[in-house]
Amino acid sequence: MGLRTGDQYVEGIKTRNKAKIYVLGKRVHDVTTNLFLKPSVLSFKATFDAAFEEDTRDLARVYSPFVGEEVNRWNSIHMGPQDLVAKVKLLRKLSHKTGTCFQRCVGWDALNTLYIVTKKMAEKEGKGIYYKNFIKYLEHVQRRDLALAGAMTDVKGVRPLKPSEQPNPDAYVRVVEERDDGIVVRGAKANITGIAVVDEVIVMPTRAMTEKDEAYAISFAIPLDTEGVTVVVGRQLNDARRLEEGEIDGLPYMFNHEGLLILDDVFVPWDRVFMYREWKWAGVLVEVFSAYHRQGYAGCKSGLGDVIIGAAYNLAKQIGVADKPHVREKLTEMVFLNETMYSAGLAASWEGKKLVEGDGGWWVNPMYANVTKHLVTRFPYEVSRLAHDIAGGLLGTAPSEFDLKNEEVGKLIAKYLQGVPEFTAEDRLRMLRLLENTSISVAYLVESVHGAGSPQAQRISMERIYDFDAVEKIAKSLARMSQRKADPRVEPHRPTDSEKA
Ligand code: SF4
Repeated sequence: MGLRTGDQYVEGIKTRNKAKIYVLGKRVHDVTTNLFLKPSVLSFKATFDAAFEEDTRDLARVYSPFVGEEVNRWNSIHMGPQDLVAKVKLLRKLSHKTGTCFQRCVGWDALNTLYIVTKKMAEKEGKGIYYKNFIKYLEHVQRRDLALAGAMTDVKGVRPLKPSEQPNPDAYVRVVEERDDGIVVRGAKANITGIAVVDEVIVMPTRAMTEKDEAYAISFAIPLDTEGVTVVVGRQLNDARRLEEGEIDGLPYMFNHEGLLILDDVFVPWDRVFMYREWKWAGVLVEVFSAYHRQGYAGCKSGLGDVIIGAAYNLAKQIGVADKPHVREKLTEMVFLNETMYSAGLAASWEGKKLVEGDGGWWVNPMYANVTKHLVTRFPYEVSRLAHDIAGGLLGTAPSEFDLKNEEVGKLIAKYLQGVPEFTAEDRLRMLRLLENTSISVAYLVESVHGAGSPQAQRISMERIYDFDAVEKIAKSLARMSQRKADPRVEPHRPTDSEKA
């Protein structure tokens, strides 16, 4: 099949019989009709519909040599820098359709990460079983056009302690039993994007490991609806508006969700295991994955930036200040910040690196991917601040849509909250709510700081990659303190562990 419609995706995730999904303390069986999760389903669904819609069709589908047909790009393996660029562009475009995180990219990055890491384990250590398992799984995913989550972040217990040193031995996901037909795993993964509304989840280690941690150095995939799986969906700002069944205050009516994934003695057959007690490879896997996801933020966050800039511009028009110099100045600053994030992601893509032999295996440029994400930890806050400045205080004090719809007070709101005559008070409330819910959202702010690694993680990576000794030699030679040998590198960057492995 290779390509499912959005409706087919929704039909496919309807029933959870084995996995226990909890929302606000209640068990949910049908995640597609649950009011709290519905916006998340709609956002995920947009990634399937994108493969059939005129303006995204070419970006959202791509030929896969693994199954010999077109597949949804979210399940594809990058065959060159052009695919990495297409990823960033697709993500920007999808933000325009959803106004939020569409949740499918973590699973996509997990596929590309495992393609590289399992192939490396085969090439360098002759452990071909993981690559064989992975390719079989990839074909399964591509043929059925499955919705995947990627689960990396463990709950981590006491942060400075390694997995094997934790007072709670399940603070990191680990293998607790080995059988002839597979393994039994236990533990929990936190902050898992889109987890309640996917077909399957790929589990990966979250940090570099030592030999003592080998029980934790595992990667595998399971259908979400598996015995022993529990998901507890997290809360977000303004989430109760989803339950009100209005059509203004919760705009845009697509949202992401994150959840706690608990694996309570879950059985995984051997052919779904992609890394088993391979502690030496855990660090490489994390590095490859995190750089992929850091690059992706260039697309989705600049796309959300477009939505926020558009909303601020419209609100400025609604009160007649769009042509004032100080407003133009702020809008231009927002554009600059937004396009800077995007440009860094494109650089990370065009400067991508091939990490394995044969087809595929294209990785992003790790320095520029980290720079991208580091910009994203800061710039969205400034874009939001400027948008709030332009929008005015009503952004935080506007009455609800139910006041507007009230026969008595609604007329007064319509009269007093109107700005220029071309727009109604309802227009103003709609745009204010869109701006409020996008610019103060988890998807645009908290996720921008912590998703794909918190700011310090990028600083550590950038410091490791940048070759301070090389630039010192450049400076010393120009200062006539010493001569330096010719260095063919343009960028003073050192190879990462993933490139060396
Ligand atoms: Fe995709 Fe962005 Fe959401 Fe990550 S944060 S899943 S890259 S939309």
